[in-house]
Amino acid sequence: MPEYWDPEIETMPVDDLKKLQEEKLKKLVHYVYENSPFYRKRFDEHGVHPEDIQTLEDIRKLPFTYKQDLRDTYPTGMFCVPNSKLARFHASSGTTGKPTVVGYTHKDIDDWAESLARAFTSVGMGKDDILQVSYGYGLFTGGLGAHYGSEKLGATVLPTSSGNTERQLELMKDLGTTAIACTPSYFLYMIETARKEGTSIRDDTKLKKGFFGAEPWSEELKKRIEDESGIKAYDIYGTSELSGPLFTECDEQCGIHIWGDLFLIEILDPETGETMPDGETGELVITTLAKEANPLIRYKIKDLTKKLSEPCKCGRTHPRITRISGRSDDMIIVRGINVFPGQVESVLMNIPEVGNHFMIIVDRIGPLDSMKVQIEMHESAFSDRMSDMMALKKKVANALKSVLNLAVEVELVEHGSLPRSEGKSKKVIDNRKL
Ligand SMILES: [Zn+2]
Repeated sequence: MPEYWDPEIETMPVDDLKKLQEEKLKKLVHYVYENSPFYRKRFDEHGVHPEDIQTLEDIRKLPFTYKQDLRDTYPTGMFCVPNSKLARFHASSGTTGKPTVVGYTHKDIDDWAESLARAFTSVGMGKDDILQVSYGYGLFTGGLGAHYGSEKLGATVLPTSSGNTERQLELMKDLGTTAIACTPSYFLYMIETARKEGTSIRDDTKLKKGFFGAEPWSEELKKRIEDESGIKAYDIYGTSELSGPLFTECDEQCGIHIWGDLFLIEILDPETGETMPDGETGELVITTLAKEANPLIRYKIKDLTKKLSEPCKCGRTHPRITRISGRSDDMIIVRGINVFPGQVESVLMNIPEVGNHFMIIVDRIGPLDSMKVQIEMHESAFSDRMSDMMALKKKVANALKSVLNLAVEVELVEHGSLPRSEGKSKKVIDNRKL
């Protein structure tokens, strides 16, 4: 029998869930219109009034919101509550310009923890588990998000935050960590660090599950993580604008469950804005149905994914999304061809001789764009014979060319020379922007 955190909500009939979403949406539009000058203005400019929203389909009448709106109204111009009702702030790093600030009431924090408690339960976590939270704690939402979700579940939290990897591994062994939450690139670094110490996560720890997210990653990398560590790897999803990490796959591993009583998702054609049919890739647009401090309406998150509406084998009726295939923001255009770092990762991780780390370097030489991929040789395939190295470079270049339709220079660099990451990894250096 599958176990649920909140069986009544998680397995409610689809029609009842839709009815609940409709009620919440109707309330939400009145709430933001009355409490946020930003939303009132945005609705008025689009000639839409809360009374116009009577059914779920009416959501299409509402204007979108964007990350730029959060920047333009920095720090709290989109909020619907006064400071006295706020329990916490988080802020995202401002890689381009101002950071974005998100506020939480006590109920918002509780809903956030609730969402993850349901998710952790769906992969069989419980009170006996010890979750090592190796996401950064602080303004970044990963650490505290996983922390509160795990505490709500009743599991034991080991709040290591990121960094100090030898110590992390020592605590993992000594305290019997059973699950970990971090970026996939940091976990790769942990695997490598353990190996250097002459130990292994598979044989010397009790680790069984990992929740990996905060950066896009591929099925191929998931497989590699599982092969090298012996654990089961789950996708965890969310962004700071929505609260933080919120959703995971269940044990069926056929998509990430998005709790429909808390969030309403649409998958739209990025060009036409039309709703994409189930199972077809489009842009994810999310409306927060329960947030009090700063609700988001039709927020264009820029992640590309597919929606699966069929109830899952696990019995949960809430819609699922497939692994994020990329962010429309991450796309690089090289000689007119769209390239996603995730595509490159998929190709590389499918070649056993290629190491776990890579870097894409884009340049412009004269009028022409050029793309180079730096790789290391995998430890298990290590060779310093020139002929082996040449053969690998050729193999990788051919594989990349067949997927990207682009000639890519492959450079084999010394093992350990590519940057390792303790948080979100940087996989692209675009010298054209400098
Ligand atoms: Zn499921």
